[in-house]
Amino acid sequence: MSATDLTAADIDSAHFDSVLADAKATLERIAAEFSPAVFASSLAAEDMVLADLILRAKLPIKIFTLETGRLHAETLGMVDRIREVYGYDVALYKPEPAAVDAYVSANGLNAFYDSVEMRKECCRIRKVEPLNRAELAVQEDDAAHGMQKFNPLADWTEAEVWHYLKSNQVPYNPLHDKGYPSIGCEPCTRAIQPGEDVRAGRWWWENPESKECGLHVVDGKLVRIKSA
Ligand code: SF4
Repeated sequence: MSATDLTAADIDSAHFDSVLADAKATLERIAAEFSPAVFASSLAAEDMVLADLILRAKLPIKIFTLETGRLHAETLGMVDRIREVYGYDVALYKPEPAAVDAYVSANGLNAFYDSVEMRKECCRIRKVEPLNRAELAVQEDDAAHGMQKFNPLADWTEAEVWHYLKSNQVPYNPLHDKGYPSIGCEPCTRAIQPGEDVRAGRWWWENPESKECGLHVVDGKLVRIKSA
């Protein structure tokens, strides 16, 4: 059974009501107390819950995604779906074309398979630098950058995420129906088998300890707040 097969029978309704109320309250507090607030969305399932909550309540929280140039067509299609359903244009943060060209010319299009260093350099160019240009901190030490970050869905179960999406007819990335638990760049993300660790779907050719991109915002789940 994949995550998208989870049903209302898989949730505790009292817990769901509680975490939903908490998430709404957290987002309202963010919008009220921190401005400008931004939400880094991977356009995957959890982030669509947050997008729906933000957009339905018309909260002043800007939603953006990192358009790395290597996303699945299905993921890019979510930008269009959000525009259709909510009339909202998700902001796209893109890498510097010159930096991408230099990397590809020197190393090849898929050099990230060759070494951890090559992979991290690709992530730096396509993810970290676009956020730097957007003046968003990318370090864990966010306090030093005048940032605070929140995870309004920290206590949600996977079943609750899918219950929310389905009961509210929220659009979601069709890759989830094909076994993708999390969604990143196309060449670095794959479907997993039931029971397999979620991390098996990312950078599967690397040792587990090297699996990070120096950018904890990139896989969603975080609302980053820039203090004025
Ligand atoms: S996830 Fe893969 S394709 Fe995407 S930026 Fe990182 S190395 Fe490059």
